[in-house]
Amino acid sequence: MGMLVVGSVGYDTVWTPLGSGTDLLGGSATYFSISASYFSSVSLVAVVGRDFRSDDIALLKNHGVNTNGLEIAPGKTFRWSGRYNPDDVNLRDTLDTQLNVFSEFEPSLDREQRNQEYLFLANIDPELQLQVLNQMERRPKLVAVDTMNFWIDSKKPHLSKVIELADVVFMDEGELRSFSEEANLVKAAKVIMAMGPKTVVAKQGEHGVLLFEHGSVFAAPAYPIERVVDPTGAGDSFAGGFMGYLASEEDTTDTAFRHAAILGSVM
Ligand code: AMP
Repeated sequence: MGMLVVGSVGYDTVWTPLGSGTDLLGGSATYFSISASYFSSVSLVAVVGRDFRSDDIALLKNHGVNTNGLEIAPGKTFRWSGRYNPDDVNLRDTLDTQLNVFSEFEPSLDREQRNQEYLFLANIDPELQLQVLNQMERRPKLVAVDTMNFWIDSKKPHLSKVIELADVVFMDEGELRSFSEEANLVKAAKVIMAMGPKTVVAKQGEHGVLLFEHGSVFAAPAYPIERVVDPTGAGDSFAGGFMGYLASEEDTTDTAFRHAAILGSVM
């Protein structure tokens, strides 16, 4: 079964305790699409500027990602830069976010995209997430949403609207606490579920994820790694494995969600 994803595609400048890199291919939809492509077909909706490298489009295409919805607009590609804490790689600071071509982006989905049965609203402006959701011809089988503090802080009312319409919410524990204004994760997940979604996936970095659904909680560990080079995009890659598996199985039972959490961790 096919999947549609809208999210960022851009260039990251990253400092980690083991090194740094400039203008590295990144973006929530990039990591998600490549990860999900191992399980199901994926169509990408995003925008990049004229400075976007053709090699990077080729990389997506080589993974079988449908890039018909990747618009190339006049202007600069989205850019983000962040620095990981040298003492704890689970913590990072955003140094700069430049939306560039995303600030003017108004996607118009084609017929095939409007009929996809699985929809992932990857981390991007919630107004853009809503625009995509509203263009779907019928309600997809599964709608999942991810976000970031940047949007929780700047566009909470729009984000709340998206969450009310979603089935699954992915957030890291800091984002969950900040969105719900609850320090306790169980209470924070309940705040989100009271808004509509039946599943909340709490990402906990090197400690894995907690899956809250139907009054139960399932924990999936992360594989312990001695040399963490760059964790950027780990959450999006997790979501790609999770959603890609569900789309390939066409199964949305609690058991399938638990399998999805394990496969997401593997990715
Ligand atoms: P993650 O490490 O899973 O949180 O994802 C990091 C990716 O999200 C990076 O590749 C960034 O390009 C992208 N990103 C960072 N900030 C934003 C933002 N405000 N909106 C959309 N994408 C973002």
